[in-house]
Amino acid sequence: SGVQSLSLQETPKVKSKNIDVISEFKKIKRKNAANFVVIGHVDAGKSTLMGRLLFDLKAVDQRTMDKYRKEAETIGKGSFAFAWVLDQGTEERARGVTIDIATNKFETEKTSFTILDAPGHRDFVPNMIAGASQADFAVLVIDASTGNFESGLRGQTKEHALLVRSIGVQRIIVAVNKMDVADWSQARFEEIRQQMSGFLTSAGFQPKNISFVPCSGLEGGNILRRSSDPRSSWYHQGPTLVEELDKSEPATHALDKPLRMTIGDVFRGGVQNPLSVSGRLESGTVQTGEQVLVMPSGEKAQVRSLQVDDDGEPRDWAVAGQNVVLNLTDIDPVHLKTGDVLCSASSSPIRNVREFTAKVLAFDHLTPMAVDVHKGRLHVPGRISQLVATLDKASGAVVKKRPKIVQPGTVARVLVRLDDAVPLEAPSRVVLRSNGDTVAAGLIE
Ligand code: GDP
Repeated sequence: SGVQSLSLQETPKVKSKNIDVISEFKKIKRKNAANFVVIGHVDAGKSTLMGRLLFDLKAVDQRTMDKYRKEAETIGKGSFAFAWVLDQGTEERARGVTIDIATNKFETEKTSFTILDAPGHRDFVPNMIAGASQADFAVLVIDASTGNFESGLRGQTKEHALLVRSIGVQRIIVAVNKMDVADWSQARFEEIRQQMSGFLTSAGFQPKNISFVPCSGLEGGNILRRSSDPRSSWYHQGPTLVEELDKSEPATHALDKPLRMTIGDVFRGGVQNPLSVSGRLESGTVQTGEQVLVMPSGEKAQVRSLQVDDDGEPRDWAVAGQNVVLNLTDIDPVHLKTGDVLCSASSSPIRNVREFTAKVLAFDHLTPMAVDVHKGRLHVPGRISQLVATLDKASGAVVKKRPKIVQPGTVARVLVRLDDAVPLEAPSRVVLRSNGDTVAAGLIE
């Protein structure tokens, strides 16, 4: 259209500086960056806990918080104030649920964190999948109060934990929340810890990657500061939630692998930058002036300028693990969609595939059936065309070839055929859904 050709004229090409990005990156001492996803049963206190975290770490100021508190009290839901930190819309507030995926950031002295998801409502699973597929670790929030832990176990607690593990998340921090209503009982904490350790280990988390923190999001106990409740004295040596978060290892990002970035959003019509895409660099590096290839369309574009982690400052380059905005030129915007993959135009581009095998954990009965394949923001319709084998959970050895059906809770190798050719490669975390339910999740082989 006319608008598009105008944009293209306004955005002349720039010259690449041919920077050796990896060696530049190594010269800089920087804060560790980590992304995490928050999971758990409805009402476990996820939003409240994250709101508290943002508030205590000064990502939200006192005035804003006071305003939220007032508004919340006006409609008689004072305790929701923290959860509201995560919302913007007043409509959600009036209903008292957290709706949107909000990307929220906060920093400790050691690490800058991004919360990939602000959970809370029933359409949470697709959002969580998008978040979890980029997460370095997960925070599982559990309601410790009598009966609620148990009903959470029958609800989403286990499902979410299985799901994040099967899409490749290795570390999990369990926030044993609402300890204020569980009298800060050590016995209760230990009971929950025992049960959950057993379950999480059987779900495939290694014991060294599981930790537990007794806390109260509402009162702020053991979040940034230790709880001042005398009943919690038994934990006075234990780490707070923030201390646990800070233990996250610097993620080993594959800087020397080929460039991969899945587009999270496409922005059009900016004055300075008529066409931009945002997303996280999954591997490799990118620099201003570089030519990139957009898949599945196979169209090329040039990176005119870029920003890292939304600070708005133009940069010369970015590396894997960073959240970036790329300002593009030389491409028609019709070729850019959420879920598309950017790679280098000159080396190891990703290929479009119509078929793949994956090792998945079944959440439901699997048969040859229609499924939607989700990988982060990418989703595409297809079908499980063959149940190749069921596998032993621990060793991965074949248990039964060509089963007629795969039972929930079983690990299986399946062949998936896609309706459209899309950029997918091993090893990627994928989720299979059917009629709005997650039926399986796992890794492309
Ligand atoms: P979500 O659905 O997991 O996001 O849960 P919310 O954060 O919306 O919290 C659900 C309810 O539990 C709200 O009424 C909160 O005020 C309450 N709540 C959350 N955290 C705590 C806590 O640590 N202690 C107590 N007593 N209540 C809490």
